[in-house]
Amino acid sequence: MGTVLVFGETEAGELSTGFWEQVSTGRQLCEQTGWTMDVVVVGCDTGPGERAACRSGATRILVVDDSRLDDPWPEATTEVLADVCDELSPDAIVMPRSLLGAEVSARLAFRLGIGMAMDVMSMERDDDGLVVTRPVFGGAATASIRLSGRPWIIVPRKGAFAAAEPVAAPSAKAVPFASGLDSRTLKTTPLAHQRLTDTGKDLEKARVIVAGGRGMGGAEPFHLLHAIADRLDGAVAASRPPCDTGWVEPMLQVGLTGKTVAPDLYMAVGISGATQHMMGCSSSRVIVAINNDPDAPIFRMASYGVVGDWREVLAGFLEALSDGQAKEIT
Ligand SMILES: Cc1cc2nc3c(=O)[nH]c(=O)nc-3n(C[C@H](O)[C@H](O)[C@H](O)COP(=O)(O)OP(=O)(O)OC[C@H]3O[C@@H](n4cnc5c(N)ncnc54)[C@H](O)[C@@H]3O)c2cc1C
Repeated sequence: MGTVLVFGETEAGELSTGFWEQVSTGRQLCEQTGWTMDVVVVGCDTGPGERAACRSGATRILVVDDSRLDDPWPEATTEVLADVCDELSPDAIVMPRSLLGAEVSARLAFRLGIGMAMDVMSMERDDDGLVVTRPVFGGAATASIRLSGRPWIIVPRKGAFAAAEPVAAPSAKAVPFASGLDSRTLKTTPLAHQRLTDTGKDLEKARVIVAGGRGMGGAEPFHLLHAIADRLDGAVAASRPPCDTGWVEPMLQVGLTGKTVAPDLYMAVGISGATQHMMGCSSSRVIVAINNDPDAPIFRMASYGVVGDWREVLAGFLEALSDGQAKEIT
């Protein structure tokens, strides 16, 4: 009987936000193959993550709880997962589309001598392996790729697989897995770290995102975006130029070299809609674009568009956002 291994990344002991989308991907693979699903929860003080993982419907829940994994450490996490793979010999591995997940996936694929598919949007099993679709050329086209050598490493695209519902009762008991992690043999060592706290709401969890681009013209106008985001219980993001010029923190960048987000509502203000930006937000349920150029590419991808200067459009919008209306929007 084959198995699908889902990597449960944790932060402060809790499973990462994309975990239930990974479970959904894992369940779909199990349906297509008749295999069973295992979960490995990795991190430090993983209690909350373990308890949640027990409701994933997995047959086995393994836990690597190690204080050295308190911070994201790609090299060590790769070692741990390689150990788990040696022990379980999974046929497929479902990784999170997080910064750590992306790096560990590539390292693990190299380590196991197999291929991987990032940003998977759909999967279909055929006689020669698994055919997946994923965006290429910054999201301008979709490619079909066959993974043949096993295990298949799959990194689902954010928002492509609806988050799975936890099962009513725990499907398995979490058991510790003794990884042979020897940090002395690794080539990197994490030193002091600093968490950036002044970045507002977590972009990956926000249901509403108000993003500004070069068209905002400076740092000051981002206060207006914050005011709107606050009313909508949302978060502020940006395209690359505002991050590069220091108008906002680099953590807020959405796109190919920034974060991938999939909120219910993505408001793009003064953003032209370059493919490298859209790559990070095209899975949003609704995209609203505000741009003074009627030919801006973003209007081709937006669900709703307003042609106009953001100063006029947003001033009226903020004014109109009484509490009742904000609730209606969200
Ligand atoms: C390898 C690589 C990776 C990249 N990664 C990323 C990435 O991760 N994220 C990212 O965002 N970009 C990325 N880029 C950059 C990307 O190609 C674009 O240059 C960038 O997204 C453009 O940002 P923008 O839309 O804010 O600026 P612009 O393209 O300059 O657009 C500004 C828009 O604002 C509008 N505007 C101006 N004034 C107003 C006004 N008063 N009211 C309303 N609208 C107004 C203009 O009409 C224009 O459409 C990457 C590029 C490369 C080569």
